[in-house]
Amino acid sequence: MTHAEEIAANIRRVRENIARACAKCGRSPEEITLVGASKMNDADACRAAIAAGIDALGENRVQEMTEKLAQNAYDGAPLHFIGHLQRNKVNKVVGTAALIESVGSPELLRDIARRAQTLGIVQDILLEVNIGAEEAKSGFLPEALEDGAHEALTLPSVRVRGLMTIPPADAAREENIRFFQKVFGLYVDINQKLFHNSFEYLSMGMSGDYEDAICEGATMVRVGTAIFGARHYA
Ligand SMILES: *Cc1c(COP(=O)(O)O)cnc(C)c1O
Repeated sequence: MTHAEEIAANIRRVRENIARACAKCGRSPEEITLVGASKMNDADACRAAIAAGIDALGENRVQEMTEKLAQNAYDGAPLHFIGHLQRNKVNKVVGTAALIESVGSPELLRDIARRAQTLGIVQDILLEVNIGAEEAKSGFLPEALEDGAHEALTLPSVRVRGLMTIPPADAAREENIRFFQKVFGLYVDINQKLFHNSFEYLSMGMSGDYEDAICEGATMVRVGTAIFGARHYA
């Protein structure tokens, strides 16, 4: 099989798993947006995923995204930014990414809003929740999320479409599920309290846990390895 054929077969398998998870917990697969996390995969791999019907592609490094954009890697699918966004790179992402999933601080939120205002656009974003309160990770702490959401509502050039989270990598399965449940609780609460239930995206779940995330309420999963194969770090 060529790499493109492998990617297509993997996407079919992931879709089947999504359908099975949905059946198990009484949901519909149409509710789930499948984002291919394409970091460290080249433009051809991105194009293969798009040809195989991926819903969106997500990048987590600005430089890699910019290089692959120049090669038209994402033509035909929405591009999401899913990684840690340094404030000095905001200008390269606002207006380029259809959805910035990883807005995890008031400062970044304001920078994104300022840039979007300059461009005369409304930037769709998700607020990232640091559900494990990890020192090394970005994202709003659960107790700071509502203030962040409040502030976003005062900024007309950003539109919050929901929440995103990455639980601690070392969590055991049961603990990981509890993190998903907590974020779902925050999602429902803030959606109702501040956003008139207009949220659409709860982005949680990666290759190892997207089925669990779906059963806990995810509407968007970000899958890398299970679609593109193992990443080879130099
Ligand atoms: C790489 C990445 C993923 C996908 O990880 P896999 O375990 O390879 O599926 C999801 N979300 C973010 C933010 C990532 O950087």
